[in-house]
Amino acid sequence: MQKVRAKKSLGQHFLKDLGVARKIAETINPTVSEKFPVLEIGPGMGVLTQFLLQNPNINLTAIELDRESVAYLKEWYPELKLIEGDFLKLDLNNVFPAGEFGVIGNYPYNISSQIFFKVLDYKDRIPVCSGMIQKEVAERIASKPGKKAYGILSVLLQAWYDIEYLFTVDENVFNPPPKVKSAVVRLRRNSRTSLDCDERLFKTVVKTAFNQRRKQLRNSLHEFITDEAKLENYLTKRPEQLSVEEFINLTKLLQPCQN
Ligand code: SAH
Repeated sequence: MQKVRAKKSLGQHFLKDLGVARKIAETINPTVSEKFPVLEIGPGMGVLTQFLLQNPNINLTAIELDRESVAYLKEWYPELKLIEGDFLKLDLNNVFPAGEFGVIGNYPYNISSQIFFKVLDYKDRIPVCSGMIQKEVAERIASKPGKKAYGILSVLLQAWYDIEYLFTVDENVFNPPPKVKSAVVRLRRNSRTSLDCDERLFKTVVKTAFNQRRKQLRNSLHEFITDEAKLENYLTKRPEQLSVEEFINLTKLLQPCQN
């Protein structure tokens, strides 16, 4: 059967280095127990899939949007549980009616942020998510406060996940090579069970503050501020200076019901 022709619109860059593929597949190993359900996003021609299927601790399901890749996978991996469709539209409760599951992939880079936002929507059921994304996004996700890369994704993900930047991957191991460098990350659910503040407001505050990241919070968050005195420590700061804990505290102070 012919190889799949890479389509730009689907973010298709097929990994050709089996050593790297094996290393990525192994990133989920330390966290899985017996027959742990794992979803692979965008298996393409199955370069990661083959290693995941070999792992006796993993109960693998994959979702692939590209019809041509689906046909290829059905031919070469008939044993694979494969869903043809868009991960972003997938109802994960249908695929995994109960319990926890992991997420892995050499992800389509054009939707990597959206993939992580969706993981966040299911955070209490996804203890681990690992895989390859653009290096720049990996740096954003893993960034600590005070860095240029620190932003919305860093705060929202780090509130719930411990992030490990595992290793960098050169563009030459792909066909076709992407324009950017890549990196492999792992997100593991931390022990936080609630934010101790209004979670929706927390998200809005983080997004609003970073959407005007050069501005002091006094200006970017003015529509939320009713009592400046309470917020003294925060008013002249910029969003990249605030840790996750500080964003949580700030949100508490902005909550109208706690006046
Ligand atoms: N994992 C393969 C392919 C990586 S390229 C490898 O390492 O070689 C990204 C893959 O994600 C492609 O196969 C692409 O078709 C698929 N894809 C793109 N958008 C998708 C979506 N919304 N849902 C599921 N798969 C998607």
